[in-house]
Amino acid sequence: MKNNPLENARQQLLDIAKILELDKKTIDRLLKIENLVSGEISVKLDNGKTKKFKAWRSQHNNAVGPYKGGIRFHEETTEEEVKALSMWMTWKTAIVGIPYGGGKGGVAVNPKTLSKSELQRLSRGYIRLIAKAIGSDKDIPAPDVNTNAEIMGWMLDEYEKIIGRKDPGALTGKPLELGGSRGRTEATGLGGSYVLDSFVKKLKKQKKAVSVAIQGFGNVGSYFAKFVHENGYKVVAVSDSKNTLYNEKGLDIRKAFDYKAKNDTFKGFVGGKLLPSEAVLGLNVDILVPAALENAVSEENVSKINAKNILEMANGPVTPKAEEILANKKILIVPDVLANTGGVAVSYFEWVQNLANYYWEKEEISAKLKKLMDSAFAAVWAEYERMSKTTKKATLRQAAYSLAVQKVVKAMQARGEL
Ligand code: NAD
Repeated sequence: MKNNPLENARQQLLDIAKILELDKKTIDRLLKIENLVSGEISVKLDNGKTKKFKAWRSQHNNAVGPYKGGIRFHEETTEEEVKALSMWMTWKTAIVGIPYGGGKGGVAVNPKTLSKSELQRLSRGYIRLIAKAIGSDKDIPAPDVNTNAEIMGWMLDEYEKIIGRKDPGALTGKPLELGGSRGRTEATGLGGSYVLDSFVKKLKKQKKAVSVAIQGFGNVGSYFAKFVHENGYKVVAVSDSKNTLYNEKGLDIRKAFDYKAKNDTFKGFVGGKLLPSEAVLGLNVDILVPAALENAVSEENVSKINAKNILEMANGPVTPKAEEILANKKILIVPDVLANTGGVAVSYFEWVQNLANYYWEKEEISAKLKKLMDSAFAAVWAEYERMSKTTKKATLRQAAYSLAVQKVVKAMQARGEL
């Protein structure tokens, strides 16, 4: 049976609601998706035919500020997935302490089957579908799986044509020329590397003695790998949907990064051996980093996990059932809603720069990001220690959710909503 990410997201919320003893009215309110825009985008193909693609924008909660979250282009994207991702965004923005709510968008498409001009028409069509629901003070989309700065540029252009004025803060992750922020592309990976540093300090380990295996080598996985390698960790494996590249002595990630960028595969790379794609999950490492898609670790394959700890860079990569099994084995999981917030944090910096029309240097961005990530980690860890005194089986996810949910509930109370 396929794991349903919305069920997982709801389960995680119900879990913390029980611990926080929230009343039914509050729980129902938090489970609710406030608004969903959905429809079909008709795209004229280069051969003159027209093809339709299902698309959604889910807005979960905006008590703290405008909805915020990426847009995913993936053939298996569904309404339920987009809803789950929008819920996770609400918790992420709260945990990292930025003034947003949670939203997420998606189009059910395999972008690799489209030409560049078809992709541009699809991106513009998507914006026409959701234009009324977005804006710099309403809902601010950004890149996610298979979307990037170039796509954000097309989307911003379409949006500004529709509204008849400039509003660069309506989308983040844009090209620098259109008001993008320095450091946004690599922000999720960089933020994750700061979280790893904080976590490893808590484990009282030396970086060079910590082995890391990373599933997924897209935007998030590849930059994360690059930063942690530069910081002195031993990255023994990276993977994409086809292969795992493995070297027990440690990979030269800079070379692997350039090789994959040039060849779109790890095949032929000298300096590591190729294993099947899913082998990355079973390696005996200190930290396993799922950075591909949700449900990577589920009930079906959890018994194969040999890692000592997990840092979630993808959204929802460990299902609740798998998490329970891992928790019983004392495997700590640094949750997605904390570990991968670097992207949305720098999206926030981009939005602030757009609103002020004043742009910062990269060093300033990295320093501000480090401060946000370090304090988010410290707050979650303190909550984890506090909860561990009363709950034998407290997890870092519960601690993160505890802080996030309480913050959102307080904002709703302050609005007189609850
Ligand atoms: P991406 O499209 O750039 O890369 C995805 C990568 O996953 C690709 O390398 C692909 O080959 C790989 N992959 C797919 N299936 C795989 C499998 N079964 N095994 C191994 N690798 C597989 O996407 P991304 O932006 O890097 O996003 C990855 C994850 O991080 C997603 O869960 C996304 O929601 C999350 N995320 C992204 C951002 C961001 O800023 N881009 C921010 C926060 C969270």
